[in-house]
Amino acid sequence: MRSSFRITSRFIGQAVEYDGVHYKETYEELESLMGGVKNVRYFSQNKNAPGAEVKNCSLCGMRLAVEDALIDKQKKNYQLKKGEHLCALCAAKRQRQQVENGSFPSIATVSGYHWISELKGKAGGEKRWAEYCKLFDGYFSDEYIYPENITLQAIKKEPFSQKHKEIERTNRELKAVMKDTVPLRKYYALVAFDGDSMGKWLSGTFFKEGTDFFKLQRNLSQALGDYARWVKGHLTRSDNRGRISSRGS
Ligand SMILES: [Zn+2]
Repeated sequence: MRSSFRITSRFIGQAVEYDGVHYKETYEELESLMGGVKNVRYFSQNKNAPGAEVKNCSLCGMRLAVEDALIDKQKKNYQLKKGEHLCALCAAKRQRQQVENGSFPSIATVSGYHWISELKGKAGGEKRWAEYCKLFDGYFSDEYIYPENITLQAIKKEPFSQKHKEIERTNRELKAVMKDTVPLRKYYALVAFDGDSMGKWLSGTFFKEGTDFFKLQRNLSQALGDYARWVKGHLTRSDNRGRISSRGS
């Protein structure tokens, strides 16, 4: 990991002496110096030609993937797909996500969540649902709530294919139970959070004249953190309303 970062990432930084009193002025000076460094920083072109020894990350496409040897050794932990190469940062993010959330839900799980939870909430719904899942001999996945995924053609290579008639019939029964309530849809929402002009906020452009710059900056940072924690708590409660995916780099 460490060597990869040395090869692929360039850390830039600036330091300004702080006298313990003029926090705002020092911060502004530091920010303007950082702006200058960003403007002139050196960009090197990554080579990703066929046959090249190093590959770009399959996720971010920006940084170089860590060496194959490292990927192979850690394959299990990184949960790599076949042919996937991750940079050190994306690999670390994925690993952290695994630790925090387990695997990420499929699109079918997300889009079918409302339907499944309403079904379970009906009288005898939990039992019906469990019986349906059982038909798949331990291979159930939420995609099997959609009729096109349980046709004989779709499941002919699955170990439970011989039950396809029973599966289709039970699926129709579940739909009949749900008929007048929630339709089985394939829609889901992706909500992206992005803080506008955060640089300006943190540098005090929008603060009132004469306010305690350090305190407001700290409060703003605290509020952002609190809000992010609230969103996370709201979504990842036991009823599984959604998942958080970290973006950016
Ligand atoms: Zn990456």
